[in-house]
Amino acid sequence: MNLNVGILNGDLIDINGDLINIQDRGYQFGDGVYEATLVHKGKCFALIPHLERLFRSLKELRIPAVYTTEELIEFHETLIKESGVEEGFIYLQITRGTAHRNHAFPDQIVPVLTMTINTVDRSAFAVKQAQGVTAITVPDIRWLRCDIKSLNLLGNVLAKQKAKEAGAYEAIQYRENGTVTEGSSSNFMVVKDGVLWSHPVNNYILNGICRRVIVERLVKDLDITFVEKTFDMDFVHSADEAFVTATTYCVMPIVKIDGKKVGDGTVGQISKKILDAFNAYLLEECSR
Ligand code: PMP
Repeated sequence: MNLNVGILNGDLIDINGDLINIQDRGYQFGDGVYEATLVHKGKCFALIPHLERLFRSLKELRIPAVYTTEELIEFHETLIKESGVEEGFIYLQITRGTAHRNHAFPDQIVPVLTMTINTVDRSAFAVKQAQGVTAITVPDIRWLRCDIKSLNLLGNVLAKQKAKEAGAYEAIQYRENGTVTEGSSSNFMVVKDGVLWSHPVNNYILNGICRRVIVERLVKDLDITFVEKTFDMDFVHSADEAFVTATTYCVMPIVKIDGKKVGDGTVGQISKKILDAFNAYLLEECSR
């Protein structure tokens, strides 16, 4: 396996070289967007939705999209082939390019695309998924465009660090009005009285690809009622089950929040059903 391969502006590179201009706006302002796509059995999972979200993020930030879907698919396939990675994820970012530092956009924008690949230990995730993990709650201090997958992740970084220091897996965020939004790097769902709840898709959360798989593909077949509505921490603490979703692990049950048991403190039945159905769908999609 070779994890030193990367893509810079479409070319295969060794990621250890001097590659990026120190005036890149991604470096100076976090002025760019990214995607992280799961690789399972040597294939990308849900790459098209990831690329659609990438184009949307670029459009919202008015960064020109200078690569086609076909080119981006090819870059992903090249990285998988050249690295030999079977289980992992591909990180892609596009910045507004290089210019002398000035907040306003440069007159001439040449976006910079970089991509890297890394492995994921799926068996370690499976152990955690079987036992469930713990979470803490933190104020959501992020900006008001969390729907854009921007490189600016300081709110998320500080939240995740708080979780780490508390010995928890994830930090669940809530806004000033008490509304629970999402995890520091995940979407959040709860189950109460057999109904699955999640924050509506708007500017306060990222429209996660795993969340979409659950909502658009799985709940119907599993006969689970899904409600897209805001809820507060009291609701979370009275919920029967909770879990987070994100690309690297797909579904992760939460059994304790702020030291209090969720439901009976074990992985819930509906969470388990969704987790199993997700794994089956992932396998099916990546075995084609
Ligand atoms: N919300 C945030 C803030 C995230 O960072 C992520 C992971 N990228 C998600 C949600 C989940 O998105 P996805 O399912 O596309 O990985």
